[in-house]
Formats: sequence, C-alpha cells, structure tokens
Amino acid sequence: MLKPRPSIASLSPYHSPIVSRAGLSLDLNESMAGCSARVLARLRSLSATDVSLYPEREVGERLTANFLGVTPEQVLLTNGMDEALSLLFTTYLGAGDELLFADPTFVMYPMLGEALGAKVVRVHSGENLALPTADLLARISPGTRVIAIANPNNPTGLAASRADLLKIAEAAPDIAVLVDEAYFEFCGETLIMDLARHPNLFVARTFSKAYGLAGLRLGVLTGTAEQIDYLRRFSLPFNVNSLVLACLEEALADQSFVRDHVAQVKQGREQLEQLFAELGLRFWPSQTNFVLVRVGAAVKTFVDSMRRRGILVRDSSSNPGCEGCVRITVGTPEQMDGALQAIRDTLAETRGSSLLEFHPNVNH
Ligand code: PMP
Repeated sequence: MLKPRPSIASLSPYHSPIVSRAGLSLDLNESMAGCSARVLARLRSLSATDVSLYPEREVGERLTANFLGVTPEQVLLTNGMDEALSLLFTTYLGAGDELLFADPTFVMYPMLGEALGAKVVRVHSGENLALPTADLLARISPGTRVIAIANPNNPTGLAASRADLLKIAEAAPDIAVLVDEAYFEFCGETLIMDLARHPNLFVARTFSKAYGLAGLRLGVLTGTAEQIDYLRRFSLPFNVNSLVLACLEEALADQSFVRDHVAQVKQGREQLEQLFAELGLRFWPSQTNFVLVRVGAAVKTFVDSMRRRGILVRDSSSNPGCEGCVRITVGTPEQMDGALQAIRDTLAETRGSSLLEFHPNVNH
C-alpha cells in the first residue's frame, strides 16, 4: 500500500483557521482596512497579458531590497511568509534535528517542523508570556538546527528586546535563528540592520498585515546573501504570482496608507486595552494588530456569544499559558464601536451566568 513519509502520516488532519466569513472577522489578524487604493487601482489596470505570462520575481526582489536597505541577493520573495518558513525549515532541519521555540507562539512552527520529522522543542514562557530568553539559551543543544521567534509574538502581541534577540543569535552561530517580523509595522523594532553582523540570522516579513494583502500572498525572507542563495536554489521559480508582483511597487510607495492604518490600529488596540482594564480582565499590552485577553473559564461561551452578535474572535485557550484567553484583531474605528459594545454586552451576559473567573485589575 502506498504510504507517505512517517512524519507526514503522523500529522494531525489539517483544519483551516477560517471558521466562517459570516460576520466581522476579528479572528485572523487580517487588515480590517482593506489595502491601499493605489494597489487596488494597479490591480484593476492589469491586462490579459499581465495574467497570462509567468511572473518575474527578481524585479520584485530588487524593489523590496531597495526598500529594506539590503541587497537583492539577500531577499527571497515567497508565497506569503508561511512559504518562507517552510523553505527555511526545509533547508536547515533534517529528520531528528531540533527546532527550538518558546511557546505560546505561531502554530505553523511546530506543524512545519513535525512535517519534516524534526524534534520540536518547546520552552514554556512564564506566566507573563514574555520571551524566556535565558530558558531558550539553556535549551540549545548540539542537535538544535533552527530557533524560531515571532517578534512581536502571536498570539501574545508582546515584543522582546533587540538586545535579547541578538543574544540568542550570538549564542548560536551555527544555528539558523529566524526572527519573524510579521507584525513589524505595528511595533517598529527590527533586526534587519543586524543581518550583516550575524550570518546565521534571518528576518521575515509579510504583506498580509499592515499592507492588507493577505489574499494576494506575499512574504519576504532576508538573510545573508550566502544563506539566501541556498534557499533560492530549491524555491519554486514561479512561487509568487504576477498579480502581487505587479502591485508591489505601489504597495511600497504608498507608505502613507501603511502609516494611517498603523495609527488607526494603535488607537483601536488602546481602546481594547482600556476596556479590558476597566472590566478587570487580564490582557497583554500589544505591539501588533490584535490583543490577547483572558476572559476566563467560560471562553467558549464568550466566543459563541460574540459570534451570535456577528463578531468572530479567536479562542486561544489551547495555546500553552493562554488558558481562558481570546485573541481579538483590531478593526476600523467604525467596527471598533460595535466590537467594544459587543464585548461589554457579552461579558455582562457571561458574567451574569457567573461562569467567568474574575481577575482584579492586574496589568503586568
Ligand atoms: N508569522 C506570524 C507570527 C503570523 O501571525 C502569520 C500569519 N498569521 C504569519 C507568519 C504568516 O503570514 P502570511 O503567510 O500570511 O504571510
């Protein structure tokens, strides 16, 4: 009988993170403000030939390199950052090699690592969910090949300091250290300028969040030219579609869209955080476009009740350390008015049924 590789056969069945599109999707950390009007105009201007020809990724890599202040040899464009993660892990992780990360973090890391037959080593973050730098350093072993760190992190929204991240890169010169900057624009701290001094460091970005292009799929992986060359050797030549490549110049040029969107998100996350503080709920101060909050034991009732009010939020309680937590994406100002009221009403209802734990106003 035909059998897949054991590491694939033992994977859990795939479930799309999209639960439903009925209602307001505050569960997937997408841009709720759409994308730049200039990008949309470019998309609408595309011709039949633009669509019928194979895409030229290199042109996009030059544009992106110029924007990031690195050389084109240091940039690999990918089909969303997910593909960058897959290429990176495949390049450095063989069966039995160790993939090290702090948990909770982005769920794709263990999934990709397991698919490769790697040994997934999770270091649990403490109660404050901050990056446990010392514990991570202590768990580096001769078998460690990749360390993955989302900064800021998903689902916590927390950012570690550049100094801590560099400490990890410096402690592990023979290990690929990935800093996943999917939410960079909402935080502002980057390690891109440190690539030159750390040949084992990789920084990844995406156009799915602040640029509002999740549907078009565009990710960026940067590292030293030497290491990126290994990944380029086996990346599929037409992995990035021609539509997003045609829009890239406009997307990068329209920084005022990104700035306005980021400013709006920062306002919205403050509103969420103020509401959670007022309601006495524990939340983690966010550097991203979402906020993690602990609603307590009745988390499922909370999520269902929000859905009945037309708002989807993400139950994060299966992530280690996030028991009773939901992750809520920041919407536009108009959406936030409704979302804040829905949260108040839902909590009043669930608290009324006295199922929720009540946390005094602690903010760590
Ligand atoms: N990294 C992190 C931390 C994320 O949260 C996400 C998306 N939710 C990604 C990577 C992947 O982004 P994409 O594939 O859409 O570029």
